[in-house]
Amino acid sequence: MEETVIGESLGRFLQQIDRPLHYAVRISDGRRPRVQGLGHFIHARVAQLGVSVTPETRRLLRRLARLFQDYDQLGEALQRQRLDVALSIVAALKETAGRSKPPSPAGSEEGLVSLTLPLEHLPGVGRTRAALFRRLGVTTVEEFLTMLPWRYEDRSRLSAVSHLTAEQEQSVLIEVKAVGSGHAGRRRLSIVELIGDDGTGLLSAKWFNQPYLERCFRPGQRVILTGRPRTNPYGGPRYRMESPQYEVIDRRGDELIHTGRIVPVYHETKGLSSRAIRALMRRALDRYGELWPDLLPDWIRREHRLVSAARAIEEVHFPPADTSMTRLQSGQSAAQRRLIFEELLLLAVGLASRKRDIQGEAVPARFSTEGALQRRFIESLGFPLTAAQRRVIAQIEADLARTHPMNRLVQGDVGCGKTVVAVAAMMMACDQGRQAAFMAPTEILAEQHASTVRRWLEPLGVRVVTLTGGVRGADRRAATAAIRDGGAGVVVGTHALITAGIRFDRLGLVVIDEQHRFGVLQRAGLAGKGRRPDVLVMTATPIPRTLALTLYGDLDVSVIDEMPPGRRPVETRLLSESRRSDAVRLLERELTAGRQAYVVAPLVEATETSDVKAATQLADSLQRQFSRMTVGVLHGRMKPAVKDRVMREFAAGAVHVLVTTSVVEVGIDVPNATVMMIEHAERFGLAQLHQLRGRVGRGRHHSYCLLMAGGAAAGAEVRARLEAVVRSRDGFQIAEADLSFRGPGEFFGMRQSGLPELRVAHLIRDAGVLDEARSCAERLLREDPTLSAPAQHRLRGALERRWAGRLSLMTVG
Ligand code: ADP
Ligand code: MG
Repeated sequence: MEETVIGESLGRFLQQIDRPLHYAVRISDGRRPRVQGLGHFIHARVAQLGVSVTPETRRLLRRLARLFQDYDQLGEALQRQRLDVALSIVAALKETAGRSKPPSPAGSEEGLVSLTLPLEHLPGVGRTRAALFRRLGVTTVEEFLTMLPWRYEDRSRLSAVSHLTAEQEQSVLIEVKAVGSGHAGRRRLSIVELIGDDGTGLLSAKWFNQPYLERCFRPGQRVILTGRPRTNPYGGPRYRMESPQYEVIDRRGDELIHTGRIVPVYHETKGLSSRAIRALMRRALDRYGELWPDLLPDWIRREHRLVSAARAIEEVHFPPADTSMTRLQSGQSAAQRRLIFEELLLLAVGLASRKRDIQGEAVPARFSTEGALQRRFIESLGFPLTAAQRRVIAQIEADLARTHPMNRLVQGDVGCGKTVVAVAAMMMACDQGRQAAFMAPTEILAEQHASTVRRWLEPLGVRVVTLTGGVRGADRRAATAAIRDGGAGVVVGTHALITAGIRFDRLGLVVIDEQHRFGVLQRAGLAGKGRRPDVLVMTATPIPRTLALTLYGDLDVSVIDEMPPGRRPVETRLLSESRRSDAVRLLERELTAGRQAYVVAPLVEATETSDVKAATQLADSLQRQFSRMTVGVLHGRMKPAVKDRVMREFAAGAVHVLVTTSVVEVGIDVPNATVMMIEHAERFGLAQLHQLRGRVGRGRHHSYCLLMAGGAAAGAEVRARLEAVVRSRDGFQIAEADLSFRGPGEFFGMRQSGLPELRVAHLIRDAGVLDEARSCAERLLREDPTLSAPAQHRLRGALERRWAGRLSLMTVG
């Protein structure tokens, strides 16, 4: 019974070191002599403990030994920090020794169960904190452990106050001697000043306009300050720091966590400081870190040189001392690479298998009638197609000749002529004797499409039926009958068309226009409509191609990267608040000349109510300014019918200025609108700004896009970001720029997309790892298509959990 032997010998060992350790902690207040030779004693004890133990225990013991290796040579502060860590390790060891069985290997069922425990099980997390974490989407231990730091700070080299270098960022650990507050200057700025001492000298730190800080510090507390010291002109301490980062290091037991090492810095929210999160993280790792399951089969780990999962989760939070800061900041430490690889592998395997699912579906036989309608449609247009349009039409044609359903995404900037391509595709379906449905995101867009499509197709003898909310009574009955009996070749409606219980005779193609949130098409809805229709999704949201291929690996992607000739560029200006009068003058000039304008109200906060308020206020003030014009408002809280009315009035020229919130997609074509003015442009994503700009420049008049960069917030970085929109007219280029400023998750709205969210990986930054993960996924699925080999067991379980029902294949195999 090896377990018992281990348990006993471990228990004895713990008894032996317990008292000396606790004694050392008790007397380590700097006033009494230290325990001599403690480091040597403990280090030697661990070395003697040469029994074979479980990996968890082994690792803990190794950490303990490391702590005491050079302990006797250390200064007092560091010794005290090490003691605290030692205590937490000893606590973990006691728990291990107390169990009748050694802990099961990482990744076992037991591990999974513990990790899915509610976060409240972690000491230090009570009701209040649990609620705060819940707001961040963190409810279980596992979710907590994957709350990764957003950056790291190197506090392994704390400076001595006596050795500070002026003007360079450094960290010091001081003891607070005095705290005070006062006011200064003409504007009576409040100042909090702290005087600290680290035994080598005095330092002053000042914060402005944060009066509450006075209550944060107490004499006797120890605080880490990170900042750039300056020589103090006022006498007193030689150096002072202005508004340094601070962290109070005061509670026993979690000291080494916060200093003397590379420390993780977490996003803070109200009530949860980075420091508090860090302390809890240490505790969570000590308790559960070793249980972190390793999903990857050994051969993958070997082949891609990846560290174990348990080590990765430990070190991604608390990097070992020799980790390079540069690698950490760029996501390239061994721990980060391991987690990124795993996440991207799960994504790649999921996508690849989903694609295989779709291709496996059979389509009803398609008989071509030689493309007569398609040809006649293109000939009737009266303008030649652009080369890009022709290329994409050819790609669709090839798709429709295959034996599995088409699933294609067509991307193209606003105005590149996607509608023509969509209608050409619908004509191919009609040529094959099938029906086509064309769906738009809003009623008004659907109506606009309906009238265009009718104008184009009725001369060709194709019956076009419109089915929007506005079609009622006898008209609606006639429409649904024509769809059911097959009399209607093309049906135009909103996205609700496929879910509204409409029966088709032989639906062959579904075109979804302006799909902004990509994601999984509602295949369930489609499946009931025909056998399995071909799907074409059109979007103006530019996604860099490499990214689209990966993320929408189950879609084929076409790009229309060319504009019809004769488009007029929109003159874009970036204006600071001080030049608002320029903007108003331009607006006035255009309105007087009979043109119209959009004004986009700023995103205030996440709440819709505040956005609505901002828009209404803005409209009121514009109405006062331009009293002879009519100003209309459009926001997300309005009933659809009201929204439609306002948009129609604007389209008809009865409303001159349309103030909108960003949540409203202004999908209408008003060629007479020549000004797009965007308030607080810095609060928008670049791609979004580009989309908004696309609303003007559609007529024969010169158009303007005015980016108002709000007040003090408009620093150099903000301007640099917005300059990308001013400089470029290429939506794809802008999207790339946007991605480099914001994370891809935000860019895509992953949560809505039906794809698992990425927590560690950054699709642009980690492009190299992504490539590796993709080829690994392909190999994996080739060798074990249903992932049913025991080695792949855990990986498969994780896929099921992460993709939660979004992968039909995984439940089949
Ligand atoms: P989007 O891609 O934004 O949906 P549309 O399909 O609405 O763009 O096209 C914008 C305008 O350009 C329409 O008036 C359309 O008729 C016109 N158009 C499309 N293709 C061409 C072309 N090849 N040459 C000239 N005009 C075109
Ligand atoms: Mg369009």
